[in-house]
Amino acid sequence: MTLAQSEVSLRAVGVAESATLAISATAKALRAAGEPVIGFGAGEPDFPTPSYIVDAARIAVDDPAMHRYTPASGLPALREAVAEKTVRDSGYSVEPSQVMITNGGKQAVYLAFQAVINPGDEVLLPAPYWVTYPEAIRLADGVPVAVPTTGEAGFQVTVGQLESATTSRTKALVFVSPSNPTGAVYGRERMAEIGRWAADRGIWIITDEIYEHLIYGNAVFHSMPAVAPEIADRTIVVNGVAKTFAMTGWRVGWLIGPHDVTAAAIRLQSHISSNVANVSQRAALAAVTGPMDAVEEMRLAFDRRRRTMVRLLNDVPGVECPDPGGAFYAFPNLSGLLGRDLAGRTAETTMDLAALLLDEIKIAVVPGEAFGAPGYARFSFALGDEDLEEGLTRLIRLAT
Ligand code: PMP
Repeated sequence: MTLAQSEVSLRAVGVAESATLAISATAKALRAAGEPVIGFGAGEPDFPTPSYIVDAARIAVDDPAMHRYTPASGLPALREAVAEKTVRDSGYSVEPSQVMITNGGKQAVYLAFQAVINPGDEVLLPAPYWVTYPEAIRLADGVPVAVPTTGEAGFQVTVGQLESATTSRTKALVFVSPSNPTGAVYGRERMAEIGRWAADRGIWIITDEIYEHLIYGNAVFHSMPAVAPEIADRTIVVNGVAKTFAMTGWRVGWLIGPHDVTAAAIRLQSHISSNVANVSQRAALAAVTGPMDAVEEMRLAFDRRRRTMVRLLNDVPGVECPDPGGAFYAFPNLSGLLGRDLAGRTAETTMDLAALLLDEIKIAVVPGEAFGAPGYARFSFALGDEDLEEGLTRLIRLAT
């Protein structure tokens, strides 16, 4: 160990690298080196940002007001537009002063925990969960408490399970619908029941709605504070433009909370990063106030790929894949591929299997271990139709 390494803080050493970002980076690097790798790891739409949004950014570039610092809370026009969009899409009425613009939904997640978690507070985290939550909870000196759910239960947590995991230290619940990585979408009744339970227990809910518009088949998006108004004053909503508008690189998200929580998050932001890049904020303003046709076109493409993916994954001997109702991920059970001969090798865990798949058939998937769900893997369907079919056909050939 070098001196420089040994002096890295305990806090920094304790943070795990994002498994999803690491896998997409490996896939991109292998592809750049000429390997025929097909990446199912990506958590981002493969479409360009719709042109009316890019045009708004072009105009903003020429506006000298956008060359300056702006309020840490976000451009006032964008905070207002997010409040209006929230009533429009979620039926949840909020004031612009409850909205704070963040550097992507990811920063909203980070700030939400920073704003309400005290050292030792426990946060209920239904598993499978997105990789960032446990790290963001720990960075706030909180304790993530995983609450496992099963494929048979549609990866949805029950009030009974939450109640059993609750202790006197429980401060908050992370609630995500549609879910990354499972694509599960909660129905109104279960959501209302969970919201009422949290309100009775005095437990906060951090609800991540970033996939609200990517919904398929019979699934319907509902927003926790709209279906369970009794929890609204203990709810922090996390959202952003990244997934809906194919804007992952622009880095604009937001959080919506009770006034004191939003004000606390703004104070933190004022020392961490000040305002989000103004040009990106103006692009986000065009996105949330503009027409939704381009979003609908992308959703239809994702839906087509989703159906192809679920069909092909279920054609792989030993694989079972439920229908994801939202987001752009399938989360099949791959345990039937473990301990079996695959191209002369065997994998005992899905972590090993992911490495085997990358080596032998050049497909990149994120193993379930990263999401607290060994035995499963996440396959993104945010990639071109031909690549998707080719990659899954390789998997069928390997396992047949
Ligand atoms: N929440 C969830 C559930 C996500 O999947 C992601 C992106 N992977 C984010 C938040 C953050 O998105 P961004 O920071 O790009 O806005």
